[in-house]
Amino acid sequence: MHMTTKALVLREVNYKESDKILTVLTEQEGKLTLSARGCRKKGSPIAAGCQLLCWGEFTLYEYQGRWSVKETAAERLFEGVRADLDKLALASYFAEVTETLAEEGQPEPELLALTLNCLHTLDRLDLPLAQVKTAFEWRAMSLAGYEPQLEGCAACGKADPEEPRVHLGEGLLCCASCRGKLGEGVSMPLSQAALAALRHIVWSERKRILSFRLEGESLRLLGDASEVYLMTRLERGFRTLDFYKSLTP
Ligand SMILES: [Zn+2]
Repeated sequence: MHMTTKALVLREVNYKESDKILTVLTEQEGKLTLSARGCRKKGSPIAAGCQLLCWGEFTLYEYQGRWSVKETAAERLFEGVRADLDKLALASYFAEVTETLAEEGQPEPELLALTLNCLHTLDRLDLPLAQVKTAFEWRAMSLAGYEPQLEGCAACGKADPEEPRVHLGEGLLCCASCRGKLGEGVSMPLSQAALAALRHIVWSERKRILSFRLEGESLRLLGDASEVYLMTRLERGFRTLDFYKSLTP
């Protein structure tokens, strides 16, 4: 059986002498595990397509119960990301989170679009990495079913909470003075500018999620909150995130 699909490589692991095992997010079938036989041999025609963060068309065949790569036509290799260690580390984190959220056999068009959009931004546009990271984290969590409720303070109902905070366990917004009414768990401070940016990220259409400006302390607050929110909700850490943070103390 054969199949042709667009796919993004989320993980690569060397296998045997010249093979790789790839985890990819496909357009049609969601997450798939592929064996890329011989792709580490010199001159292998599938070598370019079978590397982390490659986006392209894959022709697959089924062999001994597993999908194997027959041909690849790489469309985007995101060279600007590969040439910059900070960007590559951040992109690898996006790939690890995407791999965690995606499920086998279930197409994830929004998650795929988000990841490609953020990779494209790292590759071609000159935005602060912290801005791309926080937008990815908030939006990925929203797609995973953890969209924070941002209409107003969850306790008093004020549309623009005073000294706004986001309660991580519940995904709720509140004023600093209402914090006690929301129950146990960690909450983190935002500024008014950070809250405006957060609403933009969560509520805007998918092509516009990075069309905002946020700097300095507000960007730091929003980024701290999204990172802890993601780890709290998914109940795990990420090796690639630790590496990214080790580069940018
Ligand atoms: Zn309140």
